[in-house]
Amino acid sequence: MSASTEQNIRHDWTREEVQGLFDKPFNDLLFDAQTVHRANFNPNEVQVSTLLSIKTGSCPEDCKYCPQSAHYNTGLEKQRLMEVEAVLKKAAEAKAKGSSRFCMGAAWKNPNKRDMPYVLDMVKGVREMGLETCMTLGMLDEDQAQQLADAGLDYYNHNLDTSPEFYDKIITTRTYGDRLDTLQNVRDSGMKICSGGIIGMGETENDRIGLLTQLANLPVQPESVPLNMLVKVKGTPMENVEDLDHIDFVRCIAVARILMPKSHVRLSAGREAMSDEMQAMCFLAGANSIFYGECLLTTPNPEAHADMQLFARLGIKPEQAIVERDDQDQEDVLSKQLQKNDQKQPFYDASV
Ligand code: SF4
Repeated sequence: MSASTEQNIRHDWTREEVQGLFDKPFNDLLFDAQTVHRANFNPNEVQVSTLLSIKTGSCPEDCKYCPQSAHYNTGLEKQRLMEVEAVLKKAAEAKAKGSSRFCMGAAWKNPNKRDMPYVLDMVKGVREMGLETCMTLGMLDEDQAQQLADAGLDYYNHNLDTSPEFYDKIITTRTYGDRLDTLQNVRDSGMKICSGGIIGMGETENDRIGLLTQLANLPVQPESVPLNMLVKVKGTPMENVEDLDHIDFVRCIAVARILMPKSHVRLSAGREAMSDEMQAMCFLAGANSIFYGECLLTTPNPEAHADMQLFARLGIKPEQAIVERDDQDQEDVLSKQLQKNDQKQPFYDASV
């Protein structure tokens, strides 16, 4: 595998250039994306992450696609912040099923002070199992980002969602600038960034160009770029949005691969609605990461074994994580965590 150098990564993409990529004949675009992919990654490896919702629903933000927003009635079962040992048990299961990264998501505007000790213990415990760790907890200030980094959090997820122009049609309770500030705080803390968006919310191609150009032109490109295909959830303002052309989604994957040659481009929400053939085409276009497991936060995800069957049919192997860690048995981690929790206050309702 030939390694592309940092000089190959551009941060000055113009919208016209990115439009030029979208305008290419499909086969040419896929060929170019696969060529970039092969220069930077093993084309037959896909990184596998498991995502767990550690606090579900009652979110004060008004993201119009999201069943967890308190602004919409979607019948979602709300759940307060999970206890640390329950999270660690889920992480152990994810590891046993072949995940190399464990992502924990909480439906918050931002974590508050009382949440931080629990969240930090989750990071430490999961990392001690030898899994890469990722969290998505909403906006972070500098201090919170540093605390998470010091606890060993590898990645922080905070999506840009869409283009700056389309953004206020989707969210009004936080600004695009707020999102960029959080990404900067994460970067300054030394953590890696996971940031992407959602395709199929009624945006134009120009908005897709705007989103991908923003991500590619960040001072340092995100190490992970999740691209979600909208899951239309009943009760959200997006429930009746027009269906996305799947070919257009594959184009977005291919353009993301070309713009961000060293990033893991992840197939995230919406995989349930993709056929095996479409997923295979996404891998050909340069996607090399998936969420694995039965639930993607609150929307269905193809069952774990179906993913492994597809991998076998395509000759794809899960990418192994390299995590510096003590070689410690999972049970030790769990019992240590249980002892620590005995000394803490009783559990609280973390709904905000
Ligand atoms: S901030 Fe996250 S959890 Fe809250 S409404 Fe938006 S997408 Fe949903």
